[in-house]
Amino acid sequence: MGCIDGKTYLERIDRLRNNVWINGAKISGNLSEHPAFKNVMKSQAKLYDMQHEKSFRNILTFKSPSTGERVGTAYLEPKKIKDLVKQRKAFQIWARETAGMMGRSPDYMNTVVMTFAACADLFGDKQGSDNMRAFYLNCREHDLSLTHTFIQPQVNRSSLYFENASDAVAARVIDENKDGLVIHGARLLATQGGMTDELLVFPTGAFHFDEAYAYAFSIPSNTPGLKFICRESFAAGESHYDHPLSSRFDEVDSIVLFDHVTVPWDRVFLHGNTDIASRLYTDSGFMPLQVHQVTSRNIVKTEFILGVLQSLVDAINIAEYQHVQEKIAEVIVALETLKALLTASEVHASIDTWGTMVPDRKPLLAAMNVYPKIYPRFVEIVQLIGASGLVTIPTERDFQSEIGDVLRNYLQSADRNGYEKVKLFRLAWDLAMSSFAGRQTLYERFFFGDPVRLASNLYRDYDRSEFVKWVNEFLNREEL
Ligand SMILES: Cc1cc2nc3c(=O)[nH]c(=O)nc-3n(C[C@H](O)[C@H](O)[C@H](O)COP(=O)(O)OP(=O)(O)OC[C@H]3O[C@@H](n4cnc5c(N)ncnc54)[C@H](O)[C@@H]3O)c2cc1C
Repeated sequence: MGCIDGKTYLERIDRLRNNVWINGAKISGNLSEHPAFKNVMKSQAKLYDMQHEKSFRNILTFKSPSTGERVGTAYLEPKKIKDLVKQRKAFQIWARETAGMMGRSPDYMNTVVMTFAACADLFGDKQGSDNMRAFYLNCREHDLSLTHTFIQPQVNRSSLYFENASDAVAARVIDENKDGLVIHGARLLATQGGMTDELLVFPTGAFHFDEAYAYAFSIPSNTPGLKFICRESFAAGESHYDHPLSSRFDEVDSIVLFDHVTVPWDRVFLHGNTDIASRLYTDSGFMPLQVHQVTSRNIVKTEFILGVLQSLVDAINIAEYQHVQEKIAEVIVALETLKALLTASEVHASIDTWGTMVPDRKPLLAAMNVYPKIYPRFVEIVQLIGASGLVTIPTERDFQSEIGDVLRNYLQSADRNGYEKVKLFRLAWDLAMSSFAGRQTLYERFFFGDPVRLASNLYRDYDRSEFVKWVNEFLNREEL
């Protein structure tokens, strides 16, 4: 089969009839026609279509070694630096299509699956490792879309808190039988939950004493007993003029409920081994390969933000002011820093213990620590430069009404008429002010984990011993 097109994606998801809830009601009928999903699914479908476009095909896909069909580039296990370069180009072609706003474009999860298949022996027992490899092949050859849940519900984050089995909230293994593992409880937080073929479930990464939480598996999104409870939609309307970003790219987030869900044995990658569960993210290529995908997207997103900012500056002609130049320079510095970190990670890539060419994790960990801090600053800069222009934004219907001509005149800017000025400022508003914008900021702060603990990881991971030794030598230097 190989890589799919958008139509296949939409039809496949509609056929699944996933159990998806929003605003107190279960969605019946085609998910791709529901107001909360239809536009983001259309955007996702466009990405799949691009795999078949002549100008993108060679970058977005490669020839499957098992079938000869073209399959998605994120599924390529990198063996050479040029593979990483090809992947970066592919990630950025898709990111450009969504202005970097779809954090969960399919390449994100495809990279996860490729990474864990490449180090499948890490899962400990032969059956789990074979299942992981078979799952990867299934995803690659059928271009399955995936969502994932890697964390437990936010009930009590005290380090002293442990759930009792009797009143547990977090999903745990409650039984094993000839058909598989039985899972019951809740998990967070599946972005795109319900609008994908599969749900990948991995342990949290924190050390678990309780074997009932040490599991990894994937199941079809329509598995009996599985429910996706979505937040309200931020796709406020149909008009791309009024809501240029949210009307296209609102990837709904969901809570995942397991009601006595049976996970077939051939879909179980890990079960009961707390030691391996706590090492999955550190001992695999997950961190560098995933952050390579993420940073590639973040660069494109930052370029888009820079473009929006410069357009605002030109529109109201404020380039002469030094503080404005300084703010734009701040974004340029951030962009160039990210690009340099990504390049450094590729240039210093090396083969890891699993035989995969992985980018250097040091610059990527730096990039992953920087972005959650600079993204909210970008949003602040859009607000500081846009000022009241971010709220003087009548809708498309206002412009189509009898007051349209008046608005065109009175809302004009230095370089465009009122309709065009508001079009630009509505984009800036959807980037920095709307509910979609707020969710984007929260996403960039947290989606890859708590930034505080990301910094702790960097602290633990980064070898400073040479510098300490040097300082000691300096302290003990004998003056002549
Ligand atoms: C928009 C969005 C989309 C997401 N999409 C997904 C997804 O698709 N799949 C998925 O699996 N996850 C997803 N996530 C979840 C993401 O992985 C978590 O938000 C992140 O790991 C932080 O966990 P938490 O939200 O439970 O915060 P918490 O862990 O509850 O943290 C809350 C606060 O407590 C502090 N805190 C808690 N524990 C500690 C500790 N041990 N040490 C120090 N400080 C602590 C934190 O620093 C923070 O300030 C998404 C998150 C967001 C916001």
